[in-house]
Amino acid sequence: MIIGVPTEVKSDEYRVAMLPVGVEELVARGHQVLIQSEAGLGSGLLDDDYRRYGAELCTSADEIFERADLIVKVKEPLVQEYAKVRAGQIVFTYFHFAASRELTESMLQSGSTCLAYETLRDEQGHLPLLTPMSEVAGRMSIQEGAKYLEKPQQGRGILLSGVPGVAPAHVTILGGGVVGASAAKIAAGFGADVAILDVNLDRLRYLDDIMPANVNCLYSDRHTILAQLERADLVIGAVLIPGAKAPQLVRAEDLKRMKPGSVVVDVAVDQGGCIETSHPTTHSNPTYIVDDVVHYCVANMPGAVGRTSTFALCNATFPWLMRIANQGWMTAAKNFAPLRSAVNIHQGKLVNQPVADAFGLPC
Ligand code: NAD
Repeated sequence: MIIGVPTEVKSDEYRVAMLPVGVEELVARGHQVLIQSEAGLGSGLLDDDYRRYGAELCTSADEIFERADLIVKVKEPLVQEYAKVRAGQIVFTYFHFAASRELTESMLQSGSTCLAYETLRDEQGHLPLLTPMSEVAGRMSIQEGAKYLEKPQQGRGILLSGVPGVAPAHVTILGGGVVGASAAKIAAGFGADVAILDVNLDRLRYLDDIMPANVNCLYSDRHTILAQLERADLVIGAVLIPGAKAPQLVRAEDLKRMKPGSVVVDVAVDQGGCIETSHPTTHSNPTYIVDDVVHYCVANMPGAVGRTSTFALCNATFPWLMRIANQGWMTAAKNFAPLRSAVNIHQGKLVNQPVADAFGLPC
């Protein structure tokens, strides 16, 4: 199979979808790997690192999209890439279709088969290709939140940890999955006063067992959320209903209850956001203010720590990529149930119900 890895084109995206070790393993199994020149540069991976293990370096994305049977990416295709995706091609990447009708319709029209990292679900019910990036984004959300709480960044001028004699910040985390637990771990490590909210009681029991004493695990209902908003210096949005648009747990009018200069980091913005006033931002221009509340809503947070994220992502995606390459995706999907859950579009037909529901499209 010919496998193509184009350079990511999203703003401030520094990840790449394959490591040199992946090239070596694919080439050893008789596959051909095309890497766009400088695709790995943002992650500190040089063209020569890939060439040494048998990759063919291509100067343009067009060549990769024209020649490859299987395109491996990090982020969803952007507008300038829509027309490059061709019928019969397999595209294996994060899509987050429910957040974009335009992307969904473009991929349907392309006639390609779209396998989404974020919906690949293993036998235990986990989302193993979302997990590593959620771990990165969750940990990073506290780092970013701490930064934007500083006065020069238009925050309240609060140090997350406090100091002896001065109370630490209160951090409210909506959603206790991978992002939420990773955020809680870091916030707790800073010494912040942390509340983590979820609707899954078993998950709350588990978190209650493993989290330190400065993390309270609370049931997520409207009253608890409102009470938390009044206390919070930093709110992390981390809810997910897989494949679907995120539920808006914080309404626009709720912001008035928050302290001026408090910060929301809506990590779930890639699924539409769980705060009504969220809209996607970029690393170059990450924040905006609504009702005196600083909003940080970068849709590709892990991109900023490209090297860590590239290695973490490829560690998780590569075994699946290898299965698709070795067996062809149809056979691989027959043999490995998780791959079936990754298929969102099959040869121009929508096959993912939550995406269909998000746009009222047939499935
Ligand atoms: P996850 O499935 O591990 O966790 C989601 C949690 O939300 C679950 O525990 C679920 O029970 C909980 N939840 C659902 N409805 C809720 C509600 N009403 N109130 C409280 N909790 C609720 O998902 P995750 O891996 O933690 O990902 C969370 C979000 O972060 C996703 O949208 C994901 O795409 C996104 N994400 C964004 C970035 C970024 O760069 N912005 C990076 C990684 C992940």
